[in-house]
Amino acid sequence: MNTNDFISFIDKKHILVSDGATGSNLQARGLDKGEAAEVWVLENPKAIRQLHMDFLQAGSDILLTCTFGANRFRLEHAGLADKVQEVNTRAVQIAREAIGDGSTLVAGSMGPLGQMLKPLGLLDAADAQQAYAEQAFALSEAGADILVIETQFDIEEAKAAIQGVQTVCDLAVICSFSYDRGVKTMMGISPTRMAQELKQYDLAVLGINCGKSLTDNLVCLQELKSATDKPIWFKPNAGLPVVDEMGDAVYATTPADMAVHVPEWIVSGARIIGGCCGTSPQHLAAIAAQVADR
Ligand SMILES: [Zn+2]
Repeated sequence: MNTNDFISFIDKKHILVSDGATGSNLQARGLDKGEAAEVWVLENPKAIRQLHMDFLQAGSDILLTCTFGANRFRLEHAGLADKVQEVNTRAVQIAREAIGDGSTLVAGSMGPLGQMLKPLGLLDAADAQQAYAEQAFALSEAGADILVIETQFDIEEAKAAIQGVQTVCDLAVICSFSYDRGVKTMMGISPTRMAQELKQYDLAVLGINCGKSLTDNLVCLQELKSATDKPIWFKPNAGLPVVDEMGDAVYATTPADMAVHVPEWIVSGARIIGGCCGTSPQHLAAIAAQVADR
């Protein structure tokens, strides 16, 4: 689906519901805390398919593939070196299997590479671009409907990602940043700066995901809305977790705590709404009910 088709898709429904977290939900279902979720794409696809089905049941119009870390650098770290094509292809298939005949879209998730670009790190922009291109090619060949470059924090990496993706396919692209210092990313980027720097690219949607708190994410949403005319993807986390005595991350924000903010998010310009870390299918169902209700 190209940019124009995706914008029409959004306009037809006006407000779309995406899905919730991948990592924290798979961990709740037995994924080892030290293990990459992508390992389960190959070893436990049933669990991922079930999570997709739970989000579909909750009302998702868009499902993200379990490929946040399915780039060559992170996969190597996860013990899956040279499996970029296999993991991304299989992850798209798993989402399709969950959707069946439904009209829900499959969005290929692409998270940060896990390596800093020069001058802060060692990675050349050209190599970053190549890694994103490789992942995007696999996702698009496998039949992803759109692509989501997500949880970004560095403008230069985001630019390399967009350029890489757009050399290999013409799918609609969402580019989403995590403002996890509150109202700036860990590299000090604000939503306004993000919108200005990315204006030169053919992006369908700009987004905010993960972050720090619902309060800070709302401020980011309002700022981004005043900085761009593009539809906004909004997928906040359920606040930051506290670690319990078992070493597990516990998210205190309940489905009702999150859902009560949905009308405010819509008024503030969010067009595609979901949740990031800590948002369960129950959170999504509560969010979707608010979207349907408005
Ligand atoms: Zn998150």
